[in-house]
Amino acid sequence: MSTRFHSTDRLTSWGRIVRAPHFVARPGFTDEIARLVSSFSSDDPGLAVGLRRSYGDSNLNPGGRVIDMTGLDRLIYFDSDTGIMRAEAGVSLSQALQVLVPRGWFLPTTPGTRFVTLGGAVANDVHGKNHQSAGTFGASVMRLKLHRTDGRPQEIAPGDPLFHATMGGLGLTGVIEWVEFRAVRVSSSEIEAHDMPFEHISEYFDLAASTKDAYEHSMAWVDCMAGGTKIGRGIFTAGNWATHGTLTPHQEAPRRRVPMDTPGLVLGRLMVRSFNSIRHDLKSMRTGPYRQHYEQFLYPLDAIADWNRLYGSEGFYQYQCVLPPETARAGTLRLLEIIMASGQASPLAVLKNFGPNPPVGLLSFPREGTTLAVDIRNRGEETLELMAKLDGIVADAHGRLYPAKDGRAPPGLFHAGYPKWREFRAHVDPGLSSAFWRRVSA
Ligand SMILES: Cc1cc2nc3c(=O)[nH]c(=O)nc-3n(C[C@H](O)[C@H](O)[C@H](O)COP(=O)(O)OP(=O)(O)OC[C@H]3O[C@@H](n4cnc5c(N)ncnc54)[C@H](O)[C@@H]3O)c2cc1C
Repeated sequence: MSTRFHSTDRLTSWGRIVRAPHFVARPGFTDEIARLVSSFSSDDPGLAVGLRRSYGDSNLNPGGRVIDMTGLDRLIYFDSDTGIMRAEAGVSLSQALQVLVPRGWFLPTTPGTRFVTLGGAVANDVHGKNHQSAGTFGASVMRLKLHRTDGRPQEIAPGDPLFHATMGGLGLTGVIEWVEFRAVRVSSSEIEAHDMPFEHISEYFDLAASTKDAYEHSMAWVDCMAGGTKIGRGIFTAGNWATHGTLTPHQEAPRRRVPMDTPGLVLGRLMVRSFNSIRHDLKSMRTGPYRQHYEQFLYPLDAIADWNRLYGSEGFYQYQCVLPPETARAGTLRLLEIIMASGQASPLAVLKNFGPNPPVGLLSFPREGTTLAVDIRNRGEETLELMAKLDGIVADAHGRLYPAKDGRAPPGLFHAGYPKWREFRAHVDPGLSSAFWRRVSA
């Protein structure tokens, strides 16, 4: 029997703020894609979705149809001499790593969760802790197969304008059937890491600049509850692949689960403050380099299966922006001052620097500069007001927000941050749409 769309009222994104009815089809074979995609039209547009790890509304099509691609999870081929892997778009990075790591290969770059599909990694042109050396995921993609609603599947590669619209193209240029990318060699499944505490945000910038060429991976946890002379204190963590050791992939299971939606109280101001202090004190006690498996170093949050439920039933936002080098120091300080004064911050504030690598996609989020990401529990108006203030700083600093994390920013901020958005719009398939796209392109 052919795969059909079934109604569900339970579809959410990772932030769990929008919960609206959808009609979902989950094909198990790639030969079903063309028929499903060609049933979409500009009057009744659809969207492909992966593991729904985007936080806001770019992976939602409320009231409309979506194709859940996670049933398309076959490896098509892997050449262990060249590191070239071709796999169906629903294959997760976690599954890909189970094949790559034992053979001495790794993903060219990876976001902070491995529960992301290849299709989702392309559609947001995701970045990792190694942007300065590796760029985005799109930089490693050699070819992909795309289905458009006019019924003509096509293979596209770097140099083709549709390819560069599809990298970071938010699923709007077509439905990706498979992705071919080039993995990178590793000699071990462990990272040699260093933790460097810093007492003020200005020290973060100094550390990031002075260590830029010494480490492949780097990021910082920032205590966004500390104010005054301690504002923006945190831990800078940097590392390189160990040059020898075993090639042991991560454990898929068991992972700890959150048994129920936890009332937002749990992440109240006091708890956040003490969590941050403890983290700061403990980490700053660690001396010298240490070795850590990539699972702990790259994916610390994946240890708990559904940590997003800790924010309670109202859900949460993640605010992620990037500010260019000229404005990053002053702008990040100002953002932290406002976040701190609001008392709405979570323990999960992260800073990373992006390198000058040219963007692969017309809408790729990374650009040279500093990115700040902070989770904010949804408290309705109060939270929207806070984020509107942050938007003002990002706009003044000529920065941009990450669509994968956004579910409410004003269209003007998107247009200012992504000057190529009109060029991108020419590549959008009229039969595909999302809540995000309707919001920002209106
Ligand atoms: C804990 C956590 C940490 C994260 N860390 C990072 C990070 O460090 N860096 C980073 O860049 N991102 C990060 N993210 C965001 C995440 O990497 C992206 O949102 C990613 O796109 C999610 O992939 P997904 O498979 O869940 O796709 P979804 O969220 O389901 O969809 C994302 C987009 O991909 C499109 N899409 C999915 N499959 C297809 C397909 N087959 N064809 C066409 N379009 C498709 C959808 O339409 C949508 O626009 C993080 C997310 C979480 C939850």
